[in-house]
Amino acid sequence: MSRVEQITASPEGTQDLAKDFASGLRRGDVVALSGDLGSGKTTFVQGLAEGLGVKGNVVSPTFKLVNEFSGKVPLYHIDFYRIQSTREILVIGLEHYLFGDGVTVIEWADLYPDIIPKGTIRVCFEVISQNERWIVVDREGDR
Ligand code: ADP
Ligand code: MG
Repeated sequence: MSRVEQITASPEGTQDLAKDFASGLRRGDVVALSGDLGSGKTTFVQGLAEGLGVKGNVVSPTFKLVNEFSGKVPLYHIDFYRIQSTREILVIGLEHYLFGDGVTVIEWADLYPDIIPKGTIRVCFEVISQNERWIVVDREGDR
């Protein structure tokens, strides 16, 4: 396990952190985001997308379960928040994304922990104050 912790002081700070983080990602990586509503998960994905060279507006997938973006590496943005059951997730063919050729990032990943593959990079968000977020990145193995 390796852990990196950082406090950001603005949404832009969180996006910059995510941009840096994106440079260390490879095809097939899965990134699980957890933390309360408004803790910065979607903001982080916006920076991640920028870092992966993705063009397009990153907002939480609300009506669809997955938003797909093409960049240097494809980005699959998933949000478990409105999901009612594991079955609903499997029906969309989640494995196609998780074991595919892009980077998969999942908001509210901890709502369905059984679905998250081994080796997933975990990023946890905590609100410290109005503009401060505590962001913890945990990786398995020596990456
Ligand atoms: P989530 O996806 O976790 O619900 P969002 O990224 O959609 O959270 O929203 C985070 C909110 O908090 C935004 O309104 C953003 O402007 C605000 N914010 C304030 N400070 C920060 C920070 N340091 N990092 C990320 N977001 C921040
Ligand atoms: Mg969100």
